[in-house]
This record gives sequence, C-alpha cells and structure tokens, in this order.
Amino acid sequence: MVQEKGTISIHTENIFPIIKKFLYSDHEIFLRELVSNAVDATQKMKRLSSLGQAKGELGELKVEVSLDEAAKTITISDRGIGMTADEIKKYINQIAFSGATEFMEKFKEAKDANEIIGRFGLGFYSAFMVADKVEIQTLSYQDGAEPARWICDGSTEFEITEGSRTERGTDVILYINAENEEFLSQHKLQEILEKYGKFLPVPIQFGTKTDHVEDGVDEEGNTKYKDVEVPNIINNTAPIWTKAPAELKDEDYLQFYKELYPFSEDPLFWIHLNVDYPFNLTGVLYFPKIKNDFEIQRNKIKLFSRQVFITDEVKDIVPEFLMLLHGVIDSPDIPLNVSRSFLQADKNVKQINS
Ligand code: ADP
Repeated sequence: MVQEKGTISIHTENIFPIIKKFLYSDHEIFLRELVSNAVDATQKMKRLSSLGQAKGELGELKVEVSLDEAAKTITISDRGIGMTADEIKKYINQIAFSGATEFMEKFKEAKDANEIIGRFGLGFYSAFMVADKVEIQTLSYQDGAEPARWICDGSTEFEITEGSRTERGTDVILYINAENEEFLSQHKLQEILEKYGKFLPVPIQFGTKTDHVEDGVDEEGNTKYKDVEVPNIINNTAPIWTKAPAELKDEDYLQFYKELYPFSEDPLFWIHLNVDYPFNLTGVLYFPKIKNDFEIQRNKIKLFSRQVFITDEVKDIVPEFLMLLHGVIDSPDIPLNVSRSFLQADKNVKQINS
C-alpha cells in the first residue's frame, strides 16, 4: 500500500544529471558517503543505548556491504537507529532537496565546477551518481515504529510505502546503472572500501573470506588445518591516533607505520598530535629515513575526518616544510564532502595549516 507519493519541490526539472556530470571522475565516493551514514547511524544507536534512551538488544553493530552481480545491486546495511517514514520525509526528502535548490542557485552563479562540488555535501544523494534507482528499507529503534520503504528513480518523484525490514536499522539498495557497471565488481568494491574505510570506528563487513585455521592434531602429532568461512572485515576500528599516547608502545607506532606504508623502512621517530584548541586535531606524524629521491616521499600524509579518509593530496593544506613527513591527521572540523579547491578555502583547514 502506498502511503505517500509526492513530488520533491525544487524549481528545476532534475538535479541528478548535473550531479552526474560534475562528479564524473569521483563516482566512487558514493560508497564513502553511504558507509559514513551507516556508521553515523550506528554510533548514534550506541550512544542512545549507553544513555539508557533505547531499549532492547543492540545486536552485532556492524555495517555490511554486499554485492549482487546478477541483480546489479549494491546494498549498504546497518543496525543503527533507522528512520520512521516521517524521518525519511524530513531527512531524506526535505533536507536533501532544499540543499538541491541552493545548489542550483549557486550553480547559476558559479564559474568553477569545483567550487560547487566542494561547497555542497551530496551525502546520500551521491548514490544517484551510480544508480538509476535507490531504495531505502528501514526500521527505527523507536518503540512501536513501523518499517518504512522509500524509493526514488533519480527524478524528483519519490514514493514511501510500508517497509519489510524486521530488525532495527537501514538497508540502502542501489540499482547500479549501465554506465557504472565497473562498480559491480568484488575487487573494485574491496578496493574502495579499503581506501576510505580502513579506519572507520564500526566494523565494516564485505562478504566473507576463507581462513586456513588450525584444527587439532592428527595421529602422528602433526597440526591439522581446515578452511573456514569468516566475515571479511575491512577495517581497524581503533587506529592508534584515537588512543592516548600513554597506552601505546614504540611497537604500536612502528606497526601502524607498516600498516600505512607496507613497503617502507622504519621511520626515525614520530610525534603524536592531540590538539583541542582552536580546533580539534589528532594524528601521528612520522619522520621517515631520508632518501635521495625527493619526489617519492611526497604526499604521504593522509587526511581523515572522524576516521573517514578524505585525501592524501595535502599540498596546499599542509605547510610545505611538513610535506616530507608521513602519517595521518584527523580533524572532525574538516568537512567530509570536499574537493581540494574547497579544502584550501576552508577556514578550519587554513587554521590547521598555520
Ligand atoms: P548528512 O549525512 O550530511 O546529514 P545525508 O544526505 O548523507 O546528509 O543524510 C541525510 C540524513 O538522512 C542524515 O543526517 C540522517 O539523519 C539520515 N540518514 C541517512 N542515512 C541513514 C542511515 N543509514 N540510517 C539512519 N539515518 C540515515
């Protein structure tokens, strides 16, 4: 039964062709955006539960990404707070599309496409860069909530109906379009998830993998092995920059360096950054052994925002004299939806630089 059919009220026919056109080279960030939303919803659930504001079992709080090559879908599932039909209307329809109106107005004035892309967080709607149709199946954590389903084909028409989810949380199902079939690949998705999600704070599962594990001993006393299917977890949820230096040993720093730069020699030394004022910033910067080849050493600082990878092109963001350092900088004050040109203009980034 259709509860509500409607037209999203923006003064332009269709914003999606514009999104697709300008973000052509950056299509892969749809996954970063949707996985970040799933992580946020999960973190909110944890918080509500720890405050005693949500009843019932938390369950296994992980985000699952799955690929169905035959159906040509990619699904991002979480066990976060979910949404009621009213919340979908509020957070998905209104907010996003009011953003779209603003987007269109700026678009008329702006000369530089980058300016627009950087300025407007596409968030959930980046899904339409790769999908012709997007479906949400969700069940809110709130007492007595009913499951809801939202579907939109990238035009300004959407539909909200009764949903089918039986457990708290959200599935976002992307029906990948013909031009973006490259994303219907296990290998490709693994690569993108590792790029943006390697240090996200909630476990991200992408299918399963086979592990070769010990299985007792045979009659001659030799160790036996067997193959078992285990979840393929993408991320380390507690990277060292989120911990207090007092908890960490030299080995932890060296091991993390290896995790970041598998083929590099051990660094000379490192500093653990923890700044609260005038902005929040954490990170670990390593001083590498200096090699003759100057260029190879560059662009080794990775920029994160709340454990979401943003970029490693830090020229103009990090002062020149720090360019030879390696490591990570994480600042919640850095906007998630960024292009480099926007980052350079951002007030907080300027502060970080200085
Ligand atoms: P942003 O994340 O920057 O607020 P989005 O367009 O990505 O913008 O999402 C809009 C809103 O929709 C979110 O703020 C959140 O309230 C809601 N939302 C999106 N994804 C989820 C999800 N997986 N679970 C619960 N709520 C969600």
